[in-house]
Amino acid sequence: MRYLILSDVHANLEALEAVLAAAPSWDQALILGDLVGYGADPNAVVERLRALPTAALIRGNHDKVAAGLTPVDGFNQLARHAIQWTASELTSDNLAWVAALPAGPAVAGDLVEICHGTPFDEDVYLFDDLDAQHAMDTQRRPVCFFGHTHVPAAFAWMGRVRALPLPEGPHPVIPIVPETRYLINCGAVGQPRDNDPRAACGVIDVERRTVELLRMPYDVPKAQAKIRRAGLPPVLAQRLATGR
Ligand code: ZN
Repeated sequence: MRYLILSDVHANLEALEAVLAAAPSWDQALILGDLVGYGADPNAVVERLRALPTAALIRGNHDKVAAGLTPVDGFNQLARHAIQWTASELTSDNLAWVAALPAGPAVAGDLVEICHGTPFDEDVYLFDDLDAQHAMDTQRRPVCFFGHTHVPAAFAWMGRVRALPLPEGPHPVIPIVPETRYLINCGAVGQPRDNDPRAACGVIDVERRTVELLRMPYDVPKAQAKIRRAGLPPVLAQRLATGR
């Protein structure tokens, strides 16, 4: 079984299509939330994701606000503008579907679990060893994928929690060692924030016990033009070019 890991698509259709076209073979998708918000294609992205064969699918904080499940108060001006536009743009059918997305965490088989922020709280950001320690105490599967920060990262339990250096090169792979717990963020599909503008995703091969970290170039100018045309804040278009 090979799972494609998709997090933080954020209504960026060009990034999502690039990932789906270029990802090496996979059987089912794992979708880690924040399907909408920031980008200009909430309906097309929701419909594309709805049609994928999916083993687990959970909501993110932007999905909750778009669906009116949590107040917009916690959002900064940019996110607020974008999510209010998103809520007005989504069809009633897509909005109802987004509103019904389950909260994480969710498991996929015996090896894998997904969450948006952390397994103990979907809205908490996981950045450092301390956050990872708390998360590992609550995760239910050896490998837990998370998103929310939009920054690729990996932590492993080796007597204590350690941040793993991310593998480099054209095909970076994290081997999954038995008797070890992992927390892995493959990065954001639609709004990377690690200074690399390429769309990010991952593939876990359950039998071979490997996690591939993937980056795909996509048509950034096209996604930017749609954001500007929708009247969304121009900085949401600009940041796609720098991956910040
Ligand atoms: Zn996000």
